Amino acid sequence: MGQREMSGKAIIGIDLGTTNSLVAAFGPDGPTLIPNALGEVMTPSAVGYGDDGAILVGRPARDRLLTHPELTTARFKRYMGTHHEVVLGKKGFRPEELSSLLLRSLRADAETHLGHPVEEAVISVPAYFNDVQRKATITAAEFAGLKVNRLVNEPTAAALAYGLQDREAESTFLVVDLGGGTFDVSILEMFSGVMEVRASAGDAFLGGEDFTDALAAELGRQLDLQPKDTSREEGARLRSLANRLKHQLSEKAEATADYVIKGEGRAVSITREKFEEITDDLLKRMRMPIQRAISDASLRADDLHRIITVGGATRMQAVRNLITRLFKRFPEHSIDPDHVVALGAAVQAGLAARHAALDDVVMTDVCPFTLGYEVSVPLGPNRWEAGHFAPLIERNTVVPASRANDISPVEQNQREINLVIYQGESPFVRENVRIGTLRVPLPADIKADKTVEVRYTYDTSGILEVEATPAATKKTQRMVIEGTPGSMTRADIDKRLKELTALKIHPRDEQENAAIIARLRAAYENSLGDHRQYIGQLIAQFEAVLHTHDKRNIQDARTQIGEILNQFGNEDVF
Ligand code: AMP
Repeated sequence: MGQREMSGKAIIGIDLGTTNSLVAAFGPDGPTLIPNALGEVMTPSAVGYGDDGAILVGRPARDRLLTHPELTTARFKRYMGTHHEVVLGKKGFRPEELSSLLLRSLRADAETHLGHPVEEAVISVPAYFNDVQRKATITAAEFAGLKVNRLVNEPTAAALAYGLQDREAESTFLVVDLGGGTFDVSILEMFSGVMEVRASAGDAFLGGEDFTDALAAELGRQLDLQPKDTSREEGARLRSLANRLKHQLSEKAEATADYVIKGEGRAVSITREKFEEITDDLLKRMRMPIQRAISDASLRADDLHRIITVGGATRMQAVRNLITRLFKRFPEHSIDPDHVVALGAAVQAGLAARHAALDDVVMTDVCPFTLGYEVSVPLGPNRWEAGHFAPLIERNTVVPASRANDISPVEQNQREINLVIYQGESPFVRENVRIGTLRVPLPADIKADKTVEVRYTYDTSGILEVEATPAATKKTQRMVIEGTPGSMTRADIDKRLKELTALKIHPRDEQENAAIIARLRAAYENSLGDHRQYIGQLIAQFEAVLHTHDKRNIQDARTQIGEILNQFGNEDVF
């Protein structure tokens, strides 16, 4: 430990979530969470421009989603691995850039807390993230000046945190991880410090936010708001209301709130029953990956010793009921589901730094999906049909893994093979995810041996390397991702890095003030009458105190206003 501290080479663990992100480090007392500038361990995954044109990250940005939707954004993890740009003010941001601003802020928090520079991180990603999404995460880290030691699958990280608590136990457990935007299921086996992932399955487009969307649509119907006539501001407020009610429903059978619409206060309410009814499709989608993971691990539900829930969205009663029904027992969540992935990422960071306390711990993971390539199959003499999928690394193979196969051209006079790489479980490539192409030149000589050895190597971060070696030339081609939807070229990366460096970032020590103002403004918009007037006065008072530049006064005012806002208790919404 001492040596690592001296060399300043600590590796941090980061949970880069859809709704919240966390950073943790492994120390003498095991993994611990690191607080941000506001003293909170959860940093909302939100980014935006402040009034002074500087970038705000975390809570102050999140609270401005309501008041400044054109300048603020959240939930960008969903766009990782796509070309979708979010426009803030006049500038377009790629999802890697938004994530990098968040990572940069977490890195600064870690450096302040640990007291030395941090250049390396273990970052968790949904197990179901594909190659392009994983590479996008590595690019985001590079933008933030962080080297990725390893990407760890979120449910695996959660299992590491649980496994460490009880490392001598022999048990098989299932981790159900429903985060803001993704759903993952993993089955792990543990014996004398060895933790082995047996199977993973999931859905990269199913998360707690879909439940919020379904509820927002229902509330829109109750309030007679037509989606096409709803402004961006109104949409953001409605979503925030839906989120608040969704959270309430985790505690009680009926949730109610007042909503201001066109200057008029309206009462809205929703019961758990109705919520379950409108989210029934989403709940059904959770069953398949659970069943697949169990059958891939060649187990039955009864063979599982523990069922562990991870991710904020597993707090929903409907989700807990589903799991209880499926396994005929209650799921466990002894470690806070919001914290467990970051804690596990820090354990992985401790393993990577060869921390003495983790000497006897070994972790193995699997590739959660099948990787292969497109082939043509013969339909008759000289008749071929393209579009078929040939698996090379099958899902749930232990990683790192390397597999090779020989392929041959369809025509004898072919001068190149265009190897198209896919991920997925369907026999048809059109139903799988395309992750890249590789052009392999073939010898001109008609008589030459035209077979090509294709080799896939899948590393512990879930990154795929593809090589192709023609038998005749023995010249190996490595995959260059060309025109793959969503990936960035080296030139793009360098250009964007320059632009990012030029951005003005809101000073860390002023973040608390920005956060209080954003909270006050959101509370102002959400209230009416005397209440609203009172918040208006608080805003004016706080701005006056800020003008005094007296640190002590400012801090006292912040604490006082924070307490008042906590009593209202309804502006903490996203
Ligand atoms: P994560 O990505 O793990 O932080 O999960 C965040 C998701 O969990 C978001 O969709 C939240 O709205 C949801 N969530 C967090 N707390 C609760 C709660 N008490 N009840 C229902 N959903 C929650």
